[in-house]
Amino acid sequence: MSSLDTVLLHLPIFQSGLTNEGDPLSLTVTMLTRLFRLHGLFVASHPLEVIVGTIAVTICLMSMNAIAGGDQICDWKHQCPKAQEKILSSDIIILTLTRCTAIIYIYVQFKNLRQLGSKYMLGIAGLFTVFSSLVFSIVVIHFLGKELTGLNEALPFFLLLIDLSKACTLAKFALSSNSQEEVRENIAQGMAILGPTFTLDAVVECLVIGVGTMSGVRQLELVCCFGCISVLANYFVFMTFFPACVSVVLELSRESREGRPIWQLSQFARVLKEEEDNKPNPVTQRVKIIMSLVLALVHAHTRLLAESPSSNSSGSAVDLHSPNMDTQSPMTSLDMEQVITLSLALLLAVKYVFFEQAETESSLSIKTPQTFLSSRRAGEECCRREVALPRMSHTLNACMSPATICTTDTRDKETQQQAVSCPSAQKRTAQEESEERETPSSKTSVHPRPLSECLSILRDPQQGPRCLSDAEVIALVENKSILGYRLESELETPERGVAIRREMLGSKLPRPSALKNLPYTGYDYSKVMGTNCENVIGYVPVPVGVAGPLLLDGKEFYVPMATTEGCLVASTNRGCRAITLSGGASGRVLADGMTRGPVVQLPSACKAAEVKSWLESSDGFSALKHAFDRTSRFARLDRLQVCLAGRNLYIRFQSETGDAMGMNMLSKGTEEALRRLQEQFPELRVLAVSGNYCTDKKPAAVNWIHGRGKSTVCEATIPAKVVREVLKTSTAALVELNISKNLVGSAMAGSIGGFNAQAANIVAAIYIACGQDPGQTVGSSNCITLMEAVGPDGEDLCISCTMPSIELGTIGGGTNLPPQQACLQMLGVQGASADRPGENSRTLAQVVCATVMAGELSLMAALAAGHLVKSHMTLNRSKVNLSEMCGSMGKTPS
Ligand code: NAP
Repeated sequence: MSSLDTVLLHLPIFQSGLTNEGDPLSLTVTMLTRLFRLHGLFVASHPLEVIVGTIAVTICLMSMNAIAGGDQICDWKHQCPKAQEKILSSDIIILTLTRCTAIIYIYVQFKNLRQLGSKYMLGIAGLFTVFSSLVFSIVVIHFLGKELTGLNEALPFFLLLIDLSKACTLAKFALSSNSQEEVRENIAQGMAILGPTFTLDAVVECLVIGVGTMSGVRQLELVCCFGCISVLANYFVFMTFFPACVSVVLELSRESREGRPIWQLSQFARVLKEEEDNKPNPVTQRVKIIMSLVLALVHAHTRLLAESPSSNSSGSAVDLHSPNMDTQSPMTSLDMEQVITLSLALLLAVKYVFFEQAETESSLSIKTPQTFLSSRRAGEECCRREVALPRMSHTLNACMSPATICTTDTRDKETQQQAVSCPSAQKRTAQEESEERETPSSKTSVHPRPLSECLSILRDPQQGPRCLSDAEVIALVENKSILGYRLESELETPERGVAIRREMLGSKLPRPSALKNLPYTGYDYSKVMGTNCENVIGYVPVPVGVAGPLLLDGKEFYVPMATTEGCLVASTNRGCRAITLSGGASGRVLADGMTRGPVVQLPSACKAAEVKSWLESSDGFSALKHAFDRTSRFARLDRLQVCLAGRNLYIRFQSETGDAMGMNMLSKGTEEALRRLQEQFPELRVLAVSGNYCTDKKPAAVNWIHGRGKSTVCEATIPAKVVREVLKTSTAALVELNISKNLVGSAMAGSIGGFNAQAANIVAAIYIACGQDPGQTVGSSNCITLMEAVGPDGEDLCISCTMPSIELGTIGGGTNLPPQQACLQMLGVQGASADRPGENSRTLAQVVCATVMAGELSLMAALAAGHLVKSHMTLNRSKVNLSEMCGSMGKTPS
């Protein structure tokens, strides 16, 4: 339950049963609520306009008042003889006590506001609220032509009438937000809830105080009249000025952290610290300018009136400074009562500004005794929130409170609930969490609680793992209460699980700091969990380069390549340039079919032969196809290739797989087909769903001969000029080298599918960038590169690459991860093809084949030009500019 919901449920209007559906009263309440909600939404959405509007109305009234009649104008500086009379007749002790009470009351209200997280902004907003309520009341009273003499006595009562608790509640609503939109929404919601109550309160207060205006006692009438107006003014300011201020405060906070949703309480102090560091902020500047303008106007107004003879002669001035300043200067007129009041006010102001800790023990964020102690020990009393808490492990920060509360039972149930809900409001960025983890004190500063207690916290849905420190989680893992491999899913965030696993692993490694340079923060592990990797301890960033444009079938491609081999991308890029300058490459997909080759066993070789012939019959094929095809919307059994060795039977299932690479699809379909086969031949025993006859991730002639995945061919004709100028060699040299190296040399080596210079290099780089299964570079790199001299003079180069077993997909596996998807998007092939399933993966296969051809061209050219040893030596030892080197020589030979 969100903190907002909690507040809502605690509001009387929701508890009183007034909201029965169909009840006219509830209908009215609903309508009112909606009205106030709309109002709140408006105020929160246009805060600056509302602030300026409120101030403008006040100033306007003041000006009208000034024009209406000087004798009615509130003279802030000048004396009213009547006031002097009143004060002399009053009981000075009672008056002093009232004033002090009012000041303390206002101080407490400010403190409450401030504990929501703001030292200055909400404080200033509150101050402005009080100030504007006061000014507004006085101006309105003057405007109505009332006499205001003796109001200095009423001022303390006015302060006591101001209730900032509603403002606190509204601020809580806003602070529970996670985004600016939510701020608006929550202010609107808060207004919808608080508005009707506050309106009713204001009306009731006015009516009650209004009774005093009929008393017949002149002084009491005056004070009550002022009281009524003050209540109304307070209401007006609460409904307009305050929510607008809160909205601006939160917007300021957001801007200071580059758009991140950071106004959860745990981060608020930090934001405010930044505010207090006078970080330039355009919105702050605007607010400052508006405030300066208003204050300048108020001062100008006051000074002008002070100099005006008419105002001097006014007999109805409000003296807010001193009741007995008739002829004396304000300083000399200070009497005992004023000295006491002023000292108290100054004392509290100094305490508030210099000695208060912001957002330490608010109802929404409770600090533990441990944290207090440790921070004190560290001598950080002055900025506990900003310094001590972030240094704690976030679990300690967020959760030790409830745990402590649970064990010590020192707080009431409501506080516990708030404390328990606290952690959710204290999510912090991965960066901050990792910073905390780097801090040595983060996990050692608090002793782990007993296992049984940790276990009950873990199992308590109200608390859970977020309320355990890292040390306690580790203890639970060692105790097998949390399974190590399930850390990501057991803890409140996968990243914390990864962090704790690293911590546990670090201590077992030869060098505990070994993982320091293996990053783990800022990664979306939720996309990896259960799909791509287990026992995660981080991720390895691999640089991604781009080769291209590569013109293929009239379309330009920029090919992403993830590699740490210097010159690979540059060399491939040179090949791409040669192809593109030559008019581009053309490619075709010859066949599309992923394979899975289970091994089954029969009682005898003859029985195996019988099964083989049944599988090769149309009946057998149809029966298995029927079973196989049921398992997927895309996989369709195309071919069964059967061979036997004694009583073992190997069946190679081949099927199109749409845009998926298809291994899982094939496995699923194969299992189903084997079940059908066992129905036909009950004596058949399935030894394994994969009998290496697929063949997946191992060099095998079957893939080379029969193809696997996408069988692709690609060709280009490179004019002699391009061969000369871009590849820095000749066609004859290339053709000769290709025969000697890629054909004869590979044959001599007994190669299967390795009739190329470096196909695997390009395949691997693209596969890593594009989220393909890196293990499949083995089969996917099968390639024969052919070169011929063509053209009228026999000086142009015709090059082709034939790759019969490119195993890839644009959906499933690593292609689901955002960075890998970005690389696929570069090629325009990410995800499933909407129109023709399989089109994206086929295009990707052609791009791979064409890029391999570019790599072949460049490397073969470098070898033919005799740069082999030179580039090899240079690149193995190089500190020189690699791109320059590669541009002239191609890459290091494989
Ligand atoms: P997959 O993600 O397991 O399956 C593809 C899923 O995408 C299927 O559910 C398929 O629907 C759906 N799909 C939606 N649109 C599609 C479209 N246009 N074309 C194709 N499928 C579409 O992916 P996979 O390629 O079969 O398997 C890849 C994973 O297998 C990789 O993670 C790889 O590492 C792993 N792998 C497994 C083995 C193994 O032996 N099992 C071996 C090597 C690699 P349907 O449900 O209707 O088919």
